[in-house]
Amino acid sequence: MSPHGENAAEILCPSARCEKDAILLGVFDATGRLGYIRPALRIDDDFVAGTAEGRTPEERFRFAQPCVESGCRNWTGERCSVIDDALEFGVATESLPACSIRRTCRWFAQAGPSACAVCPLIVRNVRTADPGTD
Ligand code: SF4
Repeated sequence: MSPHGENAAEILCPSARCEKDAILLGVFDATGRLGYIRPALRIDDDFVAGTAEGRTPEERFRFAQPCVESGCRNWTGERCSVIDDALEFGVATESLPACSIRRTCRWFAQAGPSACAVCPLIVRNVRTADPGTD
């Protein structure tokens, strides 16, 4: 893995696939809550290969990659529906997680600190490719 240099022009999906050069955003604990990793790291082929066995890596970790907007089934034409749907459950806002991508996060850009309150509980379902890009 290598340090990630943030590109301010790049808007990132915080629930992306486990692929080479994705940013490792965090690791889920035993309760299913995401623990965020700082500083940001980009994963390499060795990491991808090492997580290929057992539960799908997207259920154990969260990854960030550039938001592909209309290339994703969760894009409404103007917004990412994943965070909008998650916010309907109404989780109280708490202190912001120590997240490495906030300046460029799609969900934070859309919903601000409210997105960060529900973010640790969102798990990408790779079998339905939802949430996240596909
Ligand atoms: S919603 Fe907030 S905590 Fe989650 S990835 Fe975006 S900036 Fe980080």
